Amino acid sequence: MDLSMISRVLWLRRTLRSRERWSQAQLHAHQRRELAALRGWAYARSPFYQRFHDGLDRAQLGELPVLTKATLMDNFDQLSTDPVVRLSTVQAYLEQLRGDQRFAGRYWVSATSGSSGRRSIIPTDAREWATIIASYGRANEWAGIRPGPTHRVRMAVVSSTTAWHQSARVAATVRSPFILTERLDAASPLANIVARLNELRPDVLVAYASMIRVLADEQLAGRLHIAPRGVNSSSEVLTGEARVMATRAWHVSPFNVYAATETGGIAAECHQHQGMHLFEDLVVPEVVDDDYRPVPAGEPGDRLLVTVLFGRTIPLIRYEMTDRVRLATQPCPCGLPFRLVDSIEGRTDDVLNLPTSDGGSVRLHPVVFHQVLDLLDVAGWQVRQQDDHLRVLVASPGPGFDPTATEGAVQAALTRAGAPTPAVHVSVVDDIPAGPAGKRPLVVARPKPP
Ligand SMILES: [Zn+2]
Repeated sequence: MDLSMISRVLWLRRTLRSRERWSQAQLHAHQRRELAALRGWAYARSPFYQRFHDGLDRAQLGELPVLTKATLMDNFDQLSTDPVVRLSTVQAYLEQLRGDQRFAGRYWVSATSGSSGRRSIIPTDAREWATIIASYGRANEWAGIRPGPTHRVRMAVVSSTTAWHQSARVAATVRSPFILTERLDAASPLANIVARLNELRPDVLVAYASMIRVLADEQLAGRLHIAPRGVNSSSEVLTGEARVMATRAWHVSPFNVYAATETGGIAAECHQHQGMHLFEDLVVPEVVDDDYRPVPAGEPGDRLLVTVLFGRTIPLIRYEMTDRVRLATQPCPCGLPFRLVDSIEGRTDDVLNLPTSDGGSVRLHPVVFHQVLDLLDVAGWQVRQQDDHLRVLVASPGPGFDPTATEGAVQAALTRAGAPTPAVHVSVVDDIPAGPAGKRPLVVARPKPP
């Protein structure tokens, strides 16, 4: 990484650290200032926002329209504040991206895999990119990972290795003598991942929550022999059960990180492990229901809106994420000024809509499956909605596993949840297969007809 980027990130890390001692009043004053600056920038340079917020210059944040991913991608060129940033040329650049090349000489571009719906593409300039890297650095620091000249850290990241994936882009930028990062492809066979980790013996293990759970099983079964001092999980729901398994395997409680391509780090756990603190100095989060009405602390929302205070190239104001989060009602004893999310209950996409006989449908929350399937002696599970049945994959079950009993238990849970009970078929597999980006979602809804 070049020196100017190193000094930017170091300076930002200090800035972010100083904000962690702010009072609530200081935080809110900062949010008001940054929001006004962001809106002023967008109204001066983005033809899209000039239309989208027409007549709303003085409106409160909560009165502004919600920006969906579809609207963002449909209006990309108009939304961009730099005429050089055009969707067709950014896409052409992504096609041939290797390593740490920049678009137009000055933009780092991250993109999502598009495995669940449309792909989003976010170009960031040096200041924005340094802020995203610093946001991940904050999460690592809260987890006790502090690389430096006297303590080199060996980190293994089991994730997507495609060049445009944000974690791969961050790794390409932050390669440094103090942190030795090895990336393993989460979509490769499990035996290969285990063998490589045994060679690496990482100090820190970073992986999707589903992979943490699988690797904890491998450790407990005696095939994996690593002793990480820190375990970080990201991108997926870390179930209570996966947390227990990881703690049993490595005697450390994993730190959960909540991040997105559009925002960088949004929230992370502090050492109290009572939930994740929102990075409210970087984003303004709003927990809302399906009709975009605010949802009070203690109740799960249907969506999360984020306003990215440091974003300038592609301004994101009330950008909709389909994560269902719940704000904690009690403050965390650690004293951080940032509000606490005490649960992330998965994505709205994880909610299954099951048709009823009268032509309606029932929304089925993934917790219904957790209640039954988390108790099984298996290395992992996944529920897939098919046309006329639910298929439950279970990976490498223990000797006492009874597929018929499991089918019955899932059907009983569906009945208790008020859902119609379609046929349930259990299939035993060696491993839960990984999707395009190496993720293994616990619930996979049937794709919506186009
Ligand atoms: Zn805390």
